[in-house]
Amino acid sequence: MKEEKQFETESRQLLDLMINSIYSNKEIFLRELISNASDAIDKYKFLSLSDTAKYPSKDYLIRINVNKDERSIEIVDNGIGMSKTDMEKNLGTIAKSGSKDFLKKYKEAKDSKDLSIIGQFGVGFYSAFMVASKVEVRSKPTGGKGTLFTSTGKDTYTVEDIDYPVDSGTSVKVFLKKDTDDEKYSDFLNEFKIEELVKKYSDYIRYPIKMVEKHQENDKDKDGKDIPNKTHEVKEDKTLNSMIPLWKKPKAEVDEKAMNEFYKNKFDDYEDPLMSLYIKVEGTISYSALVYIPSHAPYNLYSENYEKGLALYSKGIFIQDKCKDLVPDYLKFLKGLVDSEDFPLNISREMLQKSPLMDKIAKNIESKVLEKLKDMMKNDPTRYDKFFTVYGDYLKYGIYSSYGMKKESLQDLLLYPSLNSGDKKISLKDYEEKMKPEQKDIYYASGKTLDEIRMLPQMEKYRKNGLDVLLLADDIDEFVLMMMHDYDKKEFKNITAEDKEDLSKEEKDKLDSLTALYKRFLDDVKEALPGKVDAVEFSDKLVDSPVCITTKEGLSLNMEHVLEKQPGVKNEPDSEKPKAIKVLEINPDHELFKTLAKVTDDKEIRKYGSLLYDEALLLEGYEVEDKKAFVKNLNDLMMVSATGKPEEAKPTETKAETEEKKA
Ligand code: ADP
Repeated sequence: MKEEKQFETESRQLLDLMINSIYSNKEIFLRELISNASDAIDKYKFLSLSDTAKYPSKDYLIRINVNKDERSIEIVDNGIGMSKTDMEKNLGTIAKSGSKDFLKKYKEAKDSKDLSIIGQFGVGFYSAFMVASKVEVRSKPTGGKGTLFTSTGKDTYTVEDIDYPVDSGTSVKVFLKKDTDDEKYSDFLNEFKIEELVKKYSDYIRYPIKMVEKHQENDKDKDGKDIPNKTHEVKEDKTLNSMIPLWKKPKAEVDEKAMNEFYKNKFDDYEDPLMSLYIKVEGTISYSALVYIPSHAPYNLYSENYEKGLALYSKGIFIQDKCKDLVPDYLKFLKGLVDSEDFPLNISREMLQKSPLMDKIAKNIESKVLEKLKDMMKNDPTRYDKFFTVYGDYLKYGIYSSYGMKKESLQDLLLYPSLNSGDKKISLKDYEEKMKPEQKDIYYASGKTLDEIRMLPQMEKYRKNGLDVLLLADDIDEFVLMMMHDYDKKEFKNITAEDKEDLSKEEKDKLDSLTALYKRFLDDVKEALPGKVDAVEFSDKLVDSPVCITTKEGLSLNMEHVLEKQPGVKNEPDSEKPKAIKVLEINPDHELFKTLAKVTDDKEIRKYGSLLYDEALLLEGYEVEDKKAFVKNLNDLMMVSATGKPEEAKPTETKAETEEKKA
């Protein structure tokens, strides 16, 4: 019975794009269908390793049939095959993450009218509709029934039971669209064209891709001589691909173009990778690996469902798609594959994962990737910058999550914006090289945004003295520095942390005598801020700003705020939350202090104290904690300055209070 079904919404959108395709590169449909056929054989072959009775081994083969009368090309494989349910799931919906990613990218690009990002892409089965007016898929899984799936790429498809001639496999038949002025689809019926495309895109496919090629030969007479003007058709069954997987070729024969082509094909990306690496190790351990960093983060990289890992082959036989033991968490964005002669074939996946060989290969790949990244940083800084923008947080995470154990291998790969570096980011080494002779520490400041950090009152002194300061705007940054402790024996120093060590004796004495002189003022201010600050002191850090908040040993203000957002901390009672030890620092040379210092009324001083604290919070990029009190204080003081009388302004009502009164 023939059933008609609807494509899911996303599939319809993608199909629509394929049919009205604006892409020039329609020929890749063949590569996509061949790649699916090869995957299907891989899957069958893997099952046959463990259950030979049910899945007897066979002569694995992909065949291309051309029918010029029908204007069709058929790609046939004897792989795992699909049941009716499989077909509905795999072909009726977008099964694959790459396609969803593509669709999302395409929509973004369309909105910004910048379609240039859509170059070459692989969107699997649906790409057939770039050239097809109709597609028929026939398939059968081992032990199951045959099904025919038909679609013209519009809203619906049909499925029906059929007899399928062999035990398991799939045939995808593409009926080509009519030729137009711009597009000659019938080119794809030309055997030479097909052979060229297979060589170009699918040469390394490890199963023979066969096609019957027809050509004319001269008839011969009985002496074996050509008879003029008399020819007959000769059919030749030809294998079109060399079948040598890319990673089995000598390194010298594999150029970047081949690496990139393989990547796009295998990992369904439409963009070249940011980095590709061909590793061939022979010795105590032997393996080959192709490792890539995608140019853009996989769309679900940040979700919990993202599966990291490299594909695993043993002696050229596909074992597993995402072997997670081959990459550390902090490099979870790596894609690629590993093939080793040293894994015994009959070993279970579980045993494989625990094998010491796996661990050695993983460590080896990790260090090669880091080496290559260091290389890129040195020789192609623009590219490295792009890498770091997309993946830098993962490297930081690598240091943090290893409690600093990965410091040595990762610290030189970090980049930070800095006060003196403008729009460029610098490495710790860059920073170190530009340190002033008398400078002992590496200075940094943290906050929510770079602009806010640049505006910190404490920055004034550094700006004035030409000292550079790293600007840390990522939540994880300060925690990473804490794990690292130092770089090349230079400690990291938060410029908003209280520190009077660097002061000369004279400067210290000056601060001490000021403190003694204005003790009452400082005490009043502290009294106005119960639970908010731990001390009120005169500052040596400020140039133009009247106040700032610094912190003593332990958490910085920024860390306190980052921690506050963490799920585990958010819901704890206030008293349990990790807190920074805060000091309100007052600039004794600022006109504001000099004026305030003349006030003698304790109550007034406390009011100013409370405002000074709020001002400091605002200057450091945080919100005023008690907005109602802030506004009241401000109003009171405006009244004083307007009337000259210390008259109390009425407290501002909150909306709730107004409502309450009305009721
Ligand atoms: P992808 O191959 O990247 O997963 P496709 O859209 O090309 O995405 O195919 C979707 C799914 O359909 C595949 O994952 C696979 O399960 C199934 N499929 C496609 N072609 C074949 C085939 N020749 N044999 C068996 N299954 C296939």
